[in-house]
Amino acid sequence: MIIRELSQQACLEILAAARVGRLACASDGQPYVVPITIALAQHSLYSFSLPGQKIDWMRQNPKVCLQVDQAGRGDGWKSVVVTGTYEELPDRIGSKLEREHAWSLLSKHANWWEPGGLKPVTADIPAEHLFYRINMDTVTGRESVPE
Ligand SMILES: Cc1cc2nc3c(=O)[nH]c(=O)nc-3n(C[C@H](O)[C@H](O)[C@H](O)COP(=O)(O)OP(=O)(O)OC[C@H]3O[C@@H](n4cnc5c(N)ncnc54)[C@H](O)[C@@H]3O)c2cc1C
Repeated sequence: MIIRELSQQACLEILAAARVGRLACASDGQPYVVPITIALAQHSLYSFSLPGQKIDWMRQNPKVCLQVDQAGRGDGWKSVVVTGTYEELPDRIGSKLEREHAWSLLSKHANWWEPGGLKPVTADIPAEHLFYRINMDTVTGRESVPE
């Protein structure tokens, strides 16, 4: 196996095809990673959530990291790492178009709202939901291929 760098275009194609990414945020030096549903448009990744730990943490510290991977040929793999900045798309005038855009992108995935719209049954279920995007600062990719 050899490891190669992926071009920016190849990275964007992997992000565009991905449905789920692992989102890392950090608060007071403590990292936190959760899988989320994503949709790529221009240089941002859009997602949807209920309030909770990741939203609280990203509001405190908007610097985030996100990773996706794809199986390659044989044991091969492709992996993309994004660093970026969290931006909430609040439900008020000024963000209406971006919220509708996020909705239309995410709704291309069947049941897109379900993982982000549900909490454990024992938890209090907040009615508020929100859209946000990760504005991408850097995108890098690597792949492993047979020699
Ligand atoms: C395939 C997939 C797609 C998903 N898509 C979305 C999405 O688009 N939007 C979205 O908001 N959520 C999505 N989720 C759920 C997401 O991974 C989180 O579980 C959820 O968002 C709650 O995160 P929170 O920070 O609000 O947790 P909170 O409800 O605030 O709970 C925090 C506590 O629960 C634990 N916890 C939270 N989530 C997980 C987890 N996944 N695994 C283990 N422990 C956990 C934390 O460690 C922490 O102790 C998806 C999950 C999967 C598997």
